[in-house]
Amino acid sequence: MPERKKRFCKFCGEQVDFLEDFNDYFCQHCHSFQTHAEPIDTPRGKKAFASKVDNTLPPEKQPSLPPFWQQNIPIFRHREYLIVQAILSWGPKYTIYNVSGQKMGEIRGKVLSWGGDFEIFDFNNNLVGRIVGTPQLFGFQDKTFKIYDHTGPFRGAIVGRYAFLKRKWELYDAHKNLIGIPNEQIWFKTNWQMVDSRGNLLLSVDKKLFAFRDQFRIVVSETIDPFIALAYAIAIDWMYFRKSD
Ligand SMILES: [Zn+2]
Repeated sequence: MPERKKRFCKFCGEQVDFLEDFNDYFCQHCHSFQTHAEPIDTPRGKKAFASKVDNTLPPEKQPSLPPFWQQNIPIFRHREYLIVQAILSWGPKYTIYNVSGQKMGEIRGKVLSWGGDFEIFDFNNNLVGRIVGTPQLFGFQDKTFKIYDHTGPFRGAIVGRYAFLKRKWELYDAHKNLIGIPNEQIWFKTNWQMVDSRGNLLLSVDKKLFAFRDQFRIVVSETIDPFIALAYAIAIDWMYFRKSD
């Protein structure tokens, strides 16, 4: 067997292993193959494919990630996520895939929750995060989703403020600083974006990729925590799409 060079995950930066059976490098830290894609099973019984797959070998030097991403566990260090939603008897479930279609985890909502309460699990079924919505008595009240990581600390919040007959969403970091506002130029039911105060793109959520409302893609820029981007997409999806089918 040839000696292989040490290589690092192109997604999360941890060391990868070569799996002879799959003829590919695999990251056990974020559960990601490095050079091939897998079809995604959808709730409608169809197979969806990841848009494009980077089939270059994983790097021999540890890739540099934005410094504040490095405190995250590997599942929350990706630049892109594919999400498939299913509505089950016990509540909504979102499956988290990486860009090439490997399952990385699951987000499970509680059906009896008034405010929207979600738990995030990794591929080993370990609880890695929570999104907790505050209950609203009326549709026009402010709505807040608080984001907590697996060890408990508050990581950020998603706040929906109701004004002029529409809801405007804002993102806050762990220190309660406003970090994101909607890109008002792009606000369709199939695509939405958050920008910082200078108008730089923070993240985009795109439902057009798969042409079904229960699947979407999240693209994360280097200036926002992927964990917050993921939580935002789930919270918004749940708010706007839970009642329409
Ligand atoms: Zn990885």
